[in-house]
Amino acid sequence: MPSKKTAKKAKKVASKRAPKAAKYVYSFGKKTDGNAKMKNLLGGKGANLAEMARIGLPVPGGFTITTDVCVEYYKNGRVYPAALKGQIATAIKICEKESGKKFGDQKNPLLFSVRSGARESMPGMMDTILNLGLNDKTVEALKVKSGNGRFAYDCYRRFVQMYGDVVMGVQSRTENEPDPFEHALHLVKKEVGVTIDSDLTEENNKEVIKRFQKLIKDRTGGAFPQDVQKQLDGAVSAVFNSWENERATLYRQKYGIPAEWGTAVNVQLMVFGNLGDTSATGVAFTRDPANGENVFYGEYLINAQGEDVVAGVRTPFPIAQLADDMPKSHKELSVVRKKLEKHFGDVQDFEFTIEDGKLYMLQTRNGKRTGLAAVRIAVEMTKQRLMTQQTAVTKIPADQISSLLVPIFDTNAIKKAKLMATGLPAGPGAASGKIVFNAADAEKEVALGNSVVLCREETSPEDLRGMIASDGILTSRGGVSSHAALVARQMGKVCICGASDIHIDYASATLTAGKIVLKEGDSISIDGTTGEIFAGSVATAPSEVSQVLAGKMKAEKSYTFQMFNQIMKWSDKYRTMGVRTNADSPEQSKSAVSMGAEGIGLCRTEHMFFEGDRISYMREMILAPSVAARKAALKKLLPFQRKDFNGLFKAMEGRPVTIRFLDPPLHEFLPHDDASRRDLAEHLGVSPEIVSDRVRALHEENPMLGHRGCRLGISYPEITEMQARAVFEAAAQVLKLKRKIKVKPEIMIPLVGFKDELDNQVAIVHRVAAEVQKAKGVKIDYLVGTMLEVPRACVTSAEIAKTAQFFSFGTNDLTQTTLGMSRDDAGSFLSKYKDLDIIPQNPFATLDQEGVGSLVKQGVDGGKSTNPDIKLGICGEHGGDPASIKFCHNAGLSYVSCSPNRVPVARLAAAQAAIEAEA
Ligand code: PEP
Ligand code: MG
Repeated sequence: MPSKKTAKKAKKVASKRAPKAAKYVYSFGKKTDGNAKMKNLLGGKGANLAEMARIGLPVPGGFTITTDVCVEYYKNGRVYPAALKGQIATAIKICEKESGKKFGDQKNPLLFSVRSGARESMPGMMDTILNLGLNDKTVEALKVKSGNGRFAYDCYRRFVQMYGDVVMGVQSRTENEPDPFEHALHLVKKEVGVTIDSDLTEENNKEVIKRFQKLIKDRTGGAFPQDVQKQLDGAVSAVFNSWENERATLYRQKYGIPAEWGTAVNVQLMVFGNLGDTSATGVAFTRDPANGENVFYGEYLINAQGEDVVAGVRTPFPIAQLADDMPKSHKELSVVRKKLEKHFGDVQDFEFTIEDGKLYMLQTRNGKRTGLAAVRIAVEMTKQRLMTQQTAVTKIPADQISSLLVPIFDTNAIKKAKLMATGLPAGPGAASGKIVFNAADAEKEVALGNSVVLCREETSPEDLRGMIASDGILTSRGGVSSHAALVARQMGKVCICGASDIHIDYASATLTAGKIVLKEGDSISIDGTTGEIFAGSVATAPSEVSQVLAGKMKAEKSYTFQMFNQIMKWSDKYRTMGVRTNADSPEQSKSAVSMGAEGIGLCRTEHMFFEGDRISYMREMILAPSVAARKAALKKLLPFQRKDFNGLFKAMEGRPVTIRFLDPPLHEFLPHDDASRRDLAEHLGVSPEIVSDRVRALHEENPMLGHRGCRLGISYPEITEMQARAVFEAAAQVLKLKRKIKVKPEIMIPLVGFKDELDNQVAIVHRVAAEVQKAKGVKIDYLVGTMLEVPRACVTSAEIAKTAQFFSFGTNDLTQTTLGMSRDDAGSFLSKYKDLDIIPQNPFATLDQEGVGSLVKQGVDGGKSTNPDIKLGICGEHGGDPASIKFCHNAGLSYVSCSPNRVPVARLAAAQAAIEAEA
């Protein structure tokens, strides 16, 4: 007999020879292998089914096939790992043991649902199959077992339809052809004189099934499979294949979900909500996902199955009514509601089925919510000690906070508006636009620069492109958890659904409510907060939060503002980066300060000359043929600049103001057409030919890479001198005001690539500063720094930082120059790049972290190496983008600067980055 030691060794050797296959299948139910932390492997749905089973909620048993299988499936040319088959067979046995039923059995058949489940939920984007395991024989067994022939054949009919569509690909062949299954069903209903599916008798359903099976045979040449194992194999493959379907791909692109994640597949014992009037199915949220109120919120349908509620075909009842219809189940659900929130620490969106009076939980996930709801839920759940302040801050998608700043209808305009109908408020805010009836038209109109409201009977995932393009979405059918409502809320779109008083007729392209008939292209306005629909266009007004911020409404009057303010306070408590704004006028600056800006991170001085006839002086300066002429023009510009800076310093009340010296790509300022050249000639008192000659002389092939930035100040030092004088004289004026206001100018030299360029300009600034301080008898606390916006500056930042007191990354130009892509023209090919996943996000909106980001890091490291105290910021558009803000935090920047409206987003995103980095 071998010793224990030898046996162990032998075992070790054996296991080396035949490595244990990876675990591809995880059971849940009485035997549960997974938990909520395993989302990457089991997908969100699978992990939470396991977790619900663990905490004793009534989950029908089943198993999850992991996302690893999906990944391997695609990697190996759509071939499954060898060990999968056996693991599925074992998991089926566990289900059979747990349920006492048998898969494919002709007496007591086990039926499954098969659903997708990615790491992040992608509602309605992938395929689902219910009642799997039914065939011509098992359906009879189900009939006997349930004692309900209508029910058994109703289930079989639905299954054949779903299977034929999803697995065997029997679908409409043209855009105009109706769905072939729906069409066949419609014909039978017409023949037998019923209008709703549930009125079809057993015999009627048998007839429909016969026609469905013939349809499948005619279209595919193959028969609907009677072998249940074959059915399961087909369904699992269909779910994995649906990961790459067009709508899932589009959804992933929009929400930045990587294709490599793959989806899991959940196979679960069927429970039936369509077993008669003691059965029901529904979806619910633990709180109202539209406004965040702490009320039980949801809807259900009696005697219905699975997708009926979300598909929006029948309008369901509100959950409160279940207290009358099925009081015991309502009570149980109320307990589940509390338990879910307490356990998951967030609002849950869950699906349930009541089978003959017994409650089952089919899914739970963190509920998608509007920005408004996200804020209220985060604040109230923190106060109820269901989450911490840090969690509250990280729970709100930073971009969504801006939806609290969205317009509402102008109160006067709305009084005069013509109310035509009301529907269910599903996504708050006000939208006004042209009526379109399909996604393609929505995209077309938006491309022409029009706002549109997409009006549909109900939406399906095929409408996604149109929903993205539209300002508002209106449906005549479906409840608040219908596809339209869920997706619109997530996108922050204004949405009304289930507006049953309106009739939409696609054929005549009209939308009717009573006597009001609107045609395609007419204007319509919708209020997604109240559900009101108005004919015509209605002017919009700023949001409550904006009104409080602008001092037009008292804070005590707006609960929304109080919630918003609380989140902003918590954000400020946890963030470590500063938030400044890009502003060029006192109005913009004040608005930004009201939203929490702590300084100006970029004042583009050339923008100060866009207004009124100032552009003529600016043009005079640019076109000046001699130093004397330029100096004369600059003399006229000086008082404007001084006044502007004075205004900015006063508006910012001692906060730092970063003033970027002139950086006008010349083409933006030169007169383009004959009329403006004539006007300018008149203003200058010269002939139009002289102006034309000068414009020609200044013409550049690549103005973005041309005579701009510090190159201008180096060629014409008198420009830098004038600007420096304007800054310091304005500072002196403000410092001398009776009302004590501190002034902190930070002069920023643009487009520097060589230390000598910066030295050249800094010398002028210091000289003028000394002159003005002496002349005015004041001491001005100022800094001089530079933008890092060409790769050379990042690469040589150690040298440049010997002169610069601060760096601000100009990531607009840095992206342009690093990628060699024009920031003005890249749109033409970027969408293709996005489609092909070459550059998943527009790099001018979200920082290209690998490329441009590496240069930013190099710039930071180099700068700190020679100037450890150097201040580091960003002022490109990326300073208002949450993903880029996170990058900035991790790269060690001291502040971000963004447009005024993005300031709250940036405060929140900066806090989230800090909290995540600490975790
Ligand atoms: C930049 O390039 O990122 C920047 C902020 O400057 P501008 O957009 O004015 O070129
Ligand atoms: Mg720039």
